[in-house]
Amino acid sequence: MEIQEKLVIIGSGPAGLTAAIYAARGSLNPVVISGREAGGQLMLTTDVDDFPGFPEGIQGPDLMARMKKQAERFSTKFIDEDVISVDLKRRPFEIKSETCNLLTETLIIATGASAMWLGLPSEQKLIGKGVSSCAVCDGYFFKDKDVIVVGGGDTAMREAQHLSKLCKSVTIVHRRDSLRAQSALQNLVKSKPNIKFIWNTEVIECLGDEKIKAVKLKDVKSGKIKEMPIDGLFVAIGHKPNVEFLKGQLELDKGYIKVKNETHASVDGVFVAGDVSDYHFRQAVTAAGAGCKATMDVEEYLEANV
Ligand SMILES: Cc1cc2nc3c(=O)[nH]c(=O)nc-3n(C[C@H](O)[C@H](O)[C@H](O)COP(=O)(O)OP(=O)(O)OC[C@H]3O[C@@H](n4cnc5c(N)ncnc54)[C@H](O)[C@@H]3O)c2cc1C
Repeated sequence: MEIQEKLVIIGSGPAGLTAAIYAARGSLNPVVISGREAGGQLMLTTDVDDFPGFPEGIQGPDLMARMKKQAERFSTKFIDEDVISVDLKRRPFEIKSETCNLLTETLIIATGASAMWLGLPSEQKLIGKGVSSCAVCDGYFFKDKDVIVVGGGDTAMREAQHLSKLCKSVTIVHRRDSLRAQSALQNLVKSKPNIKFIWNTEVIECLGDEKIKAVKLKDVKSGKIKEMPIDGLFVAIGHKPNVEFLKGQLELDKGYIKVKNETHASVDGVFVAGDVSDYHFRQAVTAAGAGCKATMDVEEYLEANV
């Protein structure tokens, strides 16, 4: 016999685990399908200095372990697998993970958005050691230092603009000779005296062992390679929301799950939290706040509908 759950939460980053803490304390006995990347994006980083309640800062994996422990304290069940597919056309909803088949009255989707990286092994090795994808999160660690931003779109311009307020110099490395970013952002960035551009150039290697020390740059026109000493590298080439398992069953907006009234997806009974619907704020604390809101909306929905 298949058990019918009141609430299944997909994702175990700050959004999913906060949703779970609230749901468990509200006696909804939530099931969290954690995903293969249990803990989410903060598992990739070292110091987190901006999550309230930790005046000395906290390591990303420690913060996520604490959130999980808090959810477990109020008896949340965890399944450490990826969701493969969902059927949101039937009631209760059906959720298939790699080995489980769950039926649930409500669903919270908190599957995040993965930062796109350059894909270099040397870059992957140095994430959290001078290589980042989030200027708001990590910019402060590079106060009065020299950094590179890779990218040519709106995100790259926003990251560069934020970093220019903290860093000694910001160099935008772009593989083309013009930017895709909207012109107002381009003008803002070009007006900053400590931001300069290197055009038609790719980062092909990050150098350093415990910390990034330099990058190898390749001029895509001449093929010439040079080394540039650097304190930090910010990769700003976009994010990919994790929505493949939905296979078109919810409305999207620029690839992110479309929400109305903050947490409601386009199918009643399905709620959304965190970076999977938020292309603007993308912070642990905003994702956690969204998880809390999603569970409160689930409770209201269950009272009214079931
Ligand atoms: C290097 C780095 C450093 C950062 N530093 C900071 C910082 O200092 N401060 C800050 O506030 N923010 C920081 N951020 C941003 C922050 O990590 C994100 O905003 C936050 O993690 C978003 O939370 P989320 O719960 O929405 O998604 P995520 O943290 O992305 O979690 C998504 C979860 O969904 C799961 N999932 C995905 N697909 C599936 C599937 N098919 N089935 C089941 N589960 C699935 C994943 O396994 C994961 O558990 C940083 C991000 C990065 C990459």
